Amino acid sequence: MVSLFVAGSKVSSSSSFSPVARAQDVDLTASALEHRIAEANGKFNGHTNGANGANGHTVKALDASKLTVQLADPTAREVPDEATANAGDETTCTDHMITCKWRAATGWETPELKPYGPLSLMPTASVLHYATECFEGLKVFRGYDGKLRLFRLDLNARRMLMSTLRISLPGFEPEELEKLITTLVAVDGPKWLPRERPGSFLYIRPAMIGTQSQLGVQAPKEALLFITVSFMPRLDAPVGGIKLHTNPEDMVRAWVGGFGYAKVGANYGPSLLATAEARARGFGQILWLYGPEGYCTEAGASNFFIVWRAKESEGGQLQLVTAPLDDKLILDGVTRRSVVELARKRLRGEVEMVERKYTIDEVVEADREGRIVEAFAAGTAYFICAVSMIHHRGKDVQIPMGKTGEIGPLTAKLKGWMMDIMYGNEQHEWGVVVSKE
Ligand SMILES: *Cc1c(COP(=O)(O)O)cnc(C)c1O
Repeated sequence: MVSLFVAGSKVSSSSSFSPVARAQDVDLTASALEHRIAEANGKFNGHTNGANGANGHTVKALDASKLTVQLADPTAREVPDEATANAGDETTCTDHMITCKWRAATGWETPELKPYGPLSLMPTASVLHYATECFEGLKVFRGYDGKLRLFRLDLNARRMLMSTLRISLPGFEPEELEKLITTLVAVDGPKWLPRERPGSFLYIRPAMIGTQSQLGVQAPKEALLFITVSFMPRLDAPVGGIKLHTNPEDMVRAWVGGFGYAKVGANYGPSLLATAEARARGFGQILWLYGPEGYCTEAGASNFFIVWRAKESEGGQLQLVTAPLDDKLILDGVTRRSVVELARKRLRGEVEMVERKYTIDEVVEADREGRIVEAFAAGTAYFICAVSMIHHRGKDVQIPMGKTGEIGPLTAKLKGWMMDIMYGNEQHEWGVVVSKE
């Protein structure tokens, strides 16, 4: 078993000059994470989150085939229409949820599908004090062909594993999480996403929390995985597009060496102050910049894309530009990845797909030179949402759609392709049919 701290202390006492040891000193997070992800994907047996429970004896892996089912009374709640479901201050969840407990000493317990309802936690639970929480977000779609589909859920399951391990929550085989999600939507899909509502979706929220009821900064020895399914408003087409406000100079969402690339709750709470301020000024989301250079990173909890013409001196071609993943500042969005892959495949010759660092000054300069063509935010919640304006330090950068009110043709094309896959107008390997509903 490799634990962050065990590995570190062994290194310094016995082999302080070995290159491996030095690499771990320098790159501890990356090497520990890589090791555990490999372990979880291979001969995974349920242990290792840095809580020292599993010395020698086998602990149980997460096993979706053991799922127990306790069904809710199907007549107890009626399915509201979308507008009603999204009108209140509470998320409307479906009839059921899945929960599964984990203990360091024994591993994953039996997963349970049961009626949606409150969790029970001690006030001393790890998550409530040390933010040992991570989550995922994906949608289930009712296709125009009547079928229920998930979109690339293997990517969400793998990202969830990476996030859990980053905050010392227990690992699991990603396919087991995929099976649990699929089972839950197969159970609630027919009632909550009926065939009479093609083109609609529900939102799936898997999450994991550290539940050990002991104060003290340590990797939790108990955890809870839970999955809910709910309504979510359609956020992808606000009238006139979404307006972005760059973050205040004294605030940063994520930093090199931080955890911006993991979907951990700790990334979001601290961003709300800036978001609330931007909302009060009539903007939809923050465009998060990074460093003294002002690198453009993400728009709220979505990835950000801009379409511009390269400078004449650089060829003047049309480019679709987004921030790169390599410095681990931004979240590796499933939507982002899909847009990048579609653009490379289907827009070849028309637009050059560019993943690189670029600054807000470059955006302002492109605006001054009239080279900006389109911009959009991309993520599960906002889907593909056209951006109409970026406000930066007292200046407004108008994106063409801000003048016409029309979503740009490239944004529309990418969005259309994605929707066709999600709703079954195009049969594609990314659209995973839920067959057993
Ligand atoms: C969830 C999220 C995204 C979008 O990821 P998707 O997989 O496309 O939903 C982008 N940025 C942040 C910070 C996020 O939390």
